[in-house]
Amino acid sequence: MKFDYDVIIVGGRVAGSATAMLLARLGYRVLIIDRSHPSKYTLSTHAIMRSGVVQLQRWGLLPRILAHNTPPIRQIVLGFGEKEISFDFREAFGVDALYAPQRHILDTELLAAATEAGAEFRVGYRLLDLIFAENGRVTGILVDVNGVKAELRARFVVGADGLRSRVAAAVNAAAYETHPAVSTYTYAYFAGVASGSYDAYFVPGAAAGFIPTNDGLTAAFAARPNNGRLINDEEYYQLVEKSSPNMLAQLKTAERQSPFYRTLGIPGFLRVPGGPGWALVGDAGFTKDPLSAHGISDAFRDAELLANAVDAVLSERQPEAEALAAYHQTRDRFALPVHKATSALAHYAWDAAEASALMRQLGRLTDEECDFLLTLPGTGIPLQPAEAVMVLP
Ligand SMILES: Cc1cc2nc3c(=O)[nH]c(=O)nc-3n(C[C@H](O)[C@H](O)[C@H](O)COP(=O)(O)OP(=O)(O)OC[C@H]3O[C@@H](n4cnc5c(N)ncnc54)[C@H](O)[C@@H]3O)c2cc1C
Repeated sequence: MKFDYDVIIVGGRVAGSATAMLLARLGYRVLIIDRSHPSKYTLSTHAIMRSGVVQLQRWGLLPRILAHNTPPIRQIVLGFGEKEISFDFREAFGVDALYAPQRHILDTELLAAATEAGAEFRVGYRLLDLIFAENGRVTGILVDVNGVKAELRARFVVGADGLRSRVAAAVNAAAYETHPAVSTYTYAYFAGVASGSYDAYFVPGAAAGFIPTNDGLTAAFAARPNNGRLINDEEYYQLVEKSSPNMLAQLKTAERQSPFYRTLGIPGFLRVPGGPGWALVGDAGFTKDPLSAHGISDAFRDAELLANAVDAVLSERQPEAEALAAYHQTRDRFALPVHKATSALAHYAWDAAEASALMRQLGRLTDEECDFLLTLPGTGIPLQPAEAVMVLP
């Protein structure tokens, strides 16, 4: 069979672009398709955990993120009930600050890094279905481009198409550790929040926090258990006050610069992340509640695990089933405990001491993951720089 590409990646945001960049740096012919441009607003705050910063650093991308005046976050404030603790971010694993670049910056820079490494990007391409060989192997994609159907063939297809992944649906990827959307969120951007710290406050039945970001803005979120109703403006401020009167006091002197962004929440699940000719990465394979702010960082870890697995398969160093089983196993070694702790937080079935223990557990898990990431071979720095290609329909 004649293939148009080695790898087609559906979805060009944090998971898809990172995977594409790593595979293109290894010299593979990679196509990323997305139905819309990743620079468009997406409903998500953007706190990156230490493990995610480790990846940006290893991949040589941190300077590009900092070039957007992304502020370093070196102060953290955690509140559990009446108790609030403020501490300096601990320098470790080569990381001395956290960052929370807005998604249009992060996603655009990742996509640019992928195309600079030689990946091709086509926007306005909507995946309709996968193409299967008679033996059940995925051999390509069927897309809609401005109302016209087209087929593209690849040796391997990656679904980085988010929690409602069409790739996952087409291959019937089994889901496990599932729960519905249990926590409801509203956030907005404010100018004039002076503290510059990353804050997260937890009280029974509510959570709120600050995430400092570009342009002197701070994303301020409020959350509570999902009761089927969105959090309106009035309830937002009530939840902030309930979580931390100190946070409300800071918001009162700040100026809101964006609409309120609201969601009832997102479900939690893992999916079997690979099979003959296909794999899932990012939210497509592992979606968790936003309360632990792990989605982006987990996507970066899994992008590299998957790129290494696909490389092992396409270079015939390892049988496909074995490489994908190892990807599955290593992903779950890190994903499952984070999912369980996140899910416990998002179910609000804790008292202040238990919430504090869950946050400490998430911190330990992130440290273990950083240790692991620093043992991965190579740094993802380009081996075969190629011409950048960007195709618009
Ligand atoms: C309210 C909220 C707050 C959050 N806050 C944080 C946070 O602070 N920190 C953090 O780490 N995470 C956070 N997250 C989670 C984070 O947004 C996700 O984990 C992350 O976006 C997953 O990235 P992804 O690349 O896997 O998928 P996505 O970002 O969902 O990207 C999927 C891409 O696939 C494309 N696509 C989908 N279907 C098709 C199709 N059929 N054809 C072509 N293209 C397709 C889409 O257009 C999109 O560009 C938050 C989420 C929410 C909802």
